[in-house]
Amino acid sequence: MENFLLNTPELIALRKDLHKHPETALKEKNTAKRIISFLENYPPDDLITEVGETGILAIYNGKAKGKTVIFRAELDALPIQEVNTFDHQSVYAGVSHKCGHDGHMTILCGLATQLHVNRPETGKVVLLFQPAEENGKGVVRIVPDMRFRALEPDFIFALHNLPSYPKNQILVKNSTFTCAVNSIIIKLKGKTSHAGEPEKGINPALALAEITASFLGQMQTDISQPDFCLITPIYSKMGSKAYGVSAGRGQTHFTVRSDSNEQMKIIEANLENTATAIARKYHLDIKISWTQSFHANENNDEAVDYVRQAAKNNDFELIEKEFPFTWGEDFGIFTKLYAGAMFGLGSGTDTPALHNPDYDFPDDIITTGVAIFHQIAKQITDAH
Ligand SMILES: [Zn+2]
Ligand SMILES: [Zn+2]
Repeated sequence: MENFLLNTPELIALRKDLHKHPETALKEKNTAKRIISFLENYPPDDLITEVGETGILAIYNGKAKGKTVIFRAELDALPIQEVNTFDHQSVYAGVSHKCGHDGHMTILCGLATQLHVNRPETGKVVLLFQPAEENGKGVVRIVPDMRFRALEPDFIFALHNLPSYPKNQILVKNSTFTCAVNSIIIKLKGKTSHAGEPEKGINPALALAEITASFLGQMQTDISQPDFCLITPIYSKMGSKAYGVSAGRGQTHFTVRSDSNEQMKIIEANLENTATAIARKYHLDIKISWTQSFHANENNDEAVDYVRQAAKNNDFELIEKEFPFTWGEDFGIFTKLYAGAMFGLGSGTDTPALHNPDYDFPDDIITTGVAIFHQIAKQITDAH
């Protein structure tokens, strides 16, 4: 690790400060300010702010022309009440960093301290701090921004910390890293009637039951199979607590997961057809909509090779993951547009799971995160 000296206490202080002052998706104004004020101590050649509302681009130019590589971190926290009582406990009720985005931002800031001292030899390295990862509303605001477009990156990378894997392990996978996730909302409209004369109305109860049974029957929970598909009931509602009235309306919501974007389209069409046929059978009107959609994150082979090589050069433990993760990640939109890779950074077998109220990003993996990004950047931008 030549030329690699980190001011770890400074980074840990930043991480804890970010943790203490979390902001949810698209409200990350003070978080962005905090990052900008950190970066001003390690000034990039270009600092572009308010990208996709609260996003930041910090650009470190090389000495000669070459490739552009982007590293991404997320700015947003979650609407979860923290139960931890340590000094850096969230000061805002009902909001906390439970996905470790405070740690991911800190890792990018650590990379900034390295790039400030040693500019890339060629090309440019860009740090992207992106808003609203958790609800999928961030990337769709970044990608159309002309200041982002103009970068035309050759590669884009992101890491996610992974509890339940040993600290500092690097997890890689070719092709799909995280699943496509989409959520379906089905609204049925029949006709209310007197509860004593249900035959005079159209009650959606049976249709809701049949849709649920049929959807769950279309699941393939074995991720090694090509038609892998998870369909999870999320919410349903019917009628009201008026005991003299036979329900005339109902709705049911499911999340759907697949390990390929192509397969996802087929599943979506199947589910829509199934629900429509059942509604028709019971003479119900049906409205179908989709929400919180995430593309599968499909890694580029060359980009994953850079991660592998970087892990090897730094003697980090490298794990080849066999199957994709079943969570959704909006990084999938970046890897659809550019050659890129997302990889995992183990955050400890004893660390609570992501989105759990007692989760906290472990500071002792910051150095590994900075080192691997730094190494990837060098591999791409060092003069050959
Ligand atoms: Zn999350
Ligand atoms: Zn996350």
